Amino acid sequence: MIQIKDLHKSYQMGKNSLHVLKGINFEVEEGELVSIMGSSGSGKSTLLNILGILDEADLGTYTLDNTLIKNLSEKVAAQYRNKFLGFIFQSFNLINYKSALDNVSLPLYYQGVNRKERFERSMYYLEKVGLADWSGHLPSELSGGQKQRVAIARALASDPKVLLADEPTGALDTKTSYEVMELIQKINDEGKTILIVTHEPDIAEMTKRIVNLKDGLIIDDTRIEPKRASLYV
Ligand code: ADP
Ligand code: MG
Repeated sequence: MIQIKDLHKSYQMGKNSLHVLKGINFEVEEGELVSIMGSSGSGKSTLLNILGILDEADLGTYTLDNTLIKNLSEKVAAQYRNKFLGFIFQSFNLINYKSALDNVSLPLYYQGVNRKERFERSMYYLEKVGLADWSGHLPSELSGGQKQRVAIARALASDPKVLLADEPTGALDTKTSYEVMELIQKINDEGKTILIVTHEPDIAEMTKRIVNLKDGLIIDDTRIEPKRASLYV
């Protein structure tokens, strides 16, 4: 599903350059549930942003679902993001003045999905994350865990090939974090490929593979038997 070869990324700041990714190599197959670990500043978000076609590497290649991601115009990048990728963020990134249902269906609107299908698909995914009864509520009326569930429903609604989550439990307490991980494991059980950036070891242990970043390189990449979040909620 994903092939990354010898990826490099530096940030320019005036005369100075910060070499953040120094030759990253890895592959992710369909159906994997991978965590990317590393201390703050180790380049996790930089890597995820490149995987999410929100940013581009300076060197190296990135292939997503057999498509080489390189030198894309903004428009094509947006098309690929819509087609291939779903995003989940630490801070949920919901629109405050729109209902849960509207938050889930808005990306579908921009993709040209008609009104009836938008409604049906959004309700289907809200139901999947356990929030059918909350569809009419605003984000401010939802708990943190519920907000992240809405964000997950929104990410799923366009049926992306890969879900990318940057610290999805970073703003949640432990119990709520595990509830969100239980949902993420369920979605992965159904076959979705998922990458999670986290710096929390207990969250990483709930994935099937832990990739450790340090000083711009992968220093460890290990498959594990994941802890089932349902045992901890
Ligand atoms: P992580 O997500 O692991 O905490 P990041 O990928 O966000 O790390 O950042 C890696 C390093 O790159 C940090 O030193 C950060 O300050 C720097 N950095 C990130 N984004 C930018 C940017 N847009 N411009 C300059 N430096 C950046
Ligand atoms: Mg980060």
